[in-house]
Amino acid sequence: MKILLVYAHPEPRSLNGALRDVAVQELKAQGHEVQVSDLYADGWKSQVDRADFPTLGQDERLVPAAASKKAFEAGTLTEDVRAEIKKLLWADALILQFPMWWFTMPAILKGWVDRVFAYGFAYGVGEHSDRRWGDRYGEGKLAGRRAMLVVTAGGWEEHYADRGINGPIDDLLFPINHGILYYPGYDVLPPFVAYRVDRFDESGFEPVAERLRERMRTLFTAQPIPYRQQNAGDYLIPSMHLRPELGDPTATGFAIHLNDEASANEQ
Ligand SMILES: Cc1cc2nc3c(=O)[nH]c(=O)nc-3n(C[C@H](O)[C@H](O)[C@H](O)COP(=O)(O)OP(=O)(O)OC[C@H]3O[C@@H](n4cnc5c(N)ncnc54)[C@H](O)[C@@H]3O)c2cc1C
Repeated sequence: MKILLVYAHPEPRSLNGALRDVAVQELKAQGHEVQVSDLYADGWKSQVDRADFPTLGQDERLVPAAASKKAFEAGTLTEDVRAEIKKLLWADALILQFPMWWFTMPAILKGWVDRVFAYGFAYGVGEHSDRRWGDRYGEGKLAGRRAMLVVTAGGWEEHYADRGINGPIDDLLFPINHGILYYPGYDVLPPFVAYRVDRFDESGFEPVAERLRERMRTLFTAQPIPYRQQNAGDYLIPSMHLRPELGDPTATGFAIHLNDEASANEQ
């Protein structure tokens, strides 16, 4: 199988650099093909601006979504963005690897998403009608592929537990897992998170490396997070509310978008 690993750390000799090497070695040992997009090393431009749309007239107002749509359809997105889209279409699985910075991904990786997940490619896809709200949340151009986060965090695992002060890790990563990866169709695997890494030494590294190797070995067999599909009948159109008869009617928050019954049936 083919894997694209998008790596966002400025220092190759970092813990993230070492874990990236562990992941790539294990994937190759399993017979997979791997490409790495090393955003800092490549000098990735993170901000969306006029330079992204060379065919936009000098006096024309920049409307980012409209410009993205037009450029994607015309094949005039910049070469760096087109190269990443090509890699995404090549890959059976996408791994985003990053250190947790201010409870989310580093800006350079967010900028990779902003620029590469173009209109017509990752969003604005499919029929919009009274029956469908486009191909998204489980459907879309990247459906049938897998995606997974590999994250390091300075904070303790307990601090990211359900009642931990940082907020539950699944909630913090929900905008990435559900909003960025599930949205264009990926089956999203539970994230790999290494906690409390800032005081790591050799004895701490090896167990984490082995846990990561195991996740690489099960990349194509592990059960994805059972997010509900948008167009499978669970949501009302056009409000996009979860139907009141599904789940606990008093529940709110991100977890209502998990189909717990589907995951219970699979176990
Ligand atoms: C701007 C910013 C915001 C942050 N926000 C958050 C946040 O919101 N939540 C949170 O939890 N944390 C946060 N942190 C902490 C951050 O998540 C960690 O610093 C980061 O995950 C560590 O990863 P690294 O690759 O940079 O580690 P490094 O600094 O490279 O290494 C960490 C430790 O691992 C050791 N190490 C490195 N490589 C190896 C190896 N091969 N073998 C053995 N040991 C090794 C190093 O010696 C060091 O002790 C933030 C940090 C910054 C800079």
